[in-house]
Amino acid sequence: MTEPIALKLTIAIDGPAGAGKSTIASRLARKLGYVNLESGAMYRALALKAIQSDVSFDDEPALVGLVSDLRIRLEPTIGGNRVLMGKQDVSHRIRETDVTLAASRVSVHPKVREWMVAHQREMGAGGGVIMEGRDIGTKVFPNADLKIFLDADPEVRGQRRLLQDPASGVSAEAIAAELRERDRRDRTRAVSPLVPAADAIHLDTTALSEDEVLQHIEALVKEKLK
Ligand code: C5P
Repeated sequence: MTEPIALKLTIAIDGPAGAGKSTIASRLARKLGYVNLESGAMYRALALKAIQSDVSFDDEPALVGLVSDLRIRLEPTIGGNRVLMGKQDVSHRIRETDVTLAASRVSVHPKVREWMVAHQREMGAGGGVIMEGRDIGTKVFPNADLKIFLDADPEVRGQRRLLQDPASGVSAEAIAAELRERDRRDRTRAVSPLVPAADAIHLDTTALSEDEVLQHIEALVKEKLK
């Protein structure tokens, strides 16, 4: 008897920072044997490159020049994506506050986004992929099989960010301020602002544990695979 061919879904997870996207996407990918692609890491890598090259975050043509030469590789690992820029492992550096804030500035430019979206589509073309970010369900994969919009109260999101890296020395107030600034920029930019896709399933994770969120999404995936 031939084995049934397993369907390889494309799953989009969008939402603001600290909603739990990366952790959930990485755990779900492991369970399903899917590839987890963190699109934010690509914007972060470009931001780091701009810092290293002394390019202004407002200079769209220069940023497009940088991004076209950028060799970004995402390697899914148990703890999330390992991020390589050329041969340089930038996984930790791109999580630091200066790069985090810069990522939300370089990502406002339409031509930068065009390049990112084209590459993200290529990376996810084969299906069996969970991509997370801000515009995955609206722009990168508008035909995704399953779209989830994760959200949580700003205070809870700030606390989660703090717990992710308690040794960073960054205060709770500084993290809250960073989240507010990024949220505002991500939600109000002219191109691909952070909005749920019309057909996304909303999940407020404020009062849910990681396991509960995962169970909920797994049930949605099962439904799709029926
Ligand atoms: O998801 P993460 O917090 O790593 O994303 C960093 C920044 O990159 C976001 O604040 C946002 O400005 C930008 N981003 C984006 N579109 C995506 C993913 C991230 O604009 N799909």
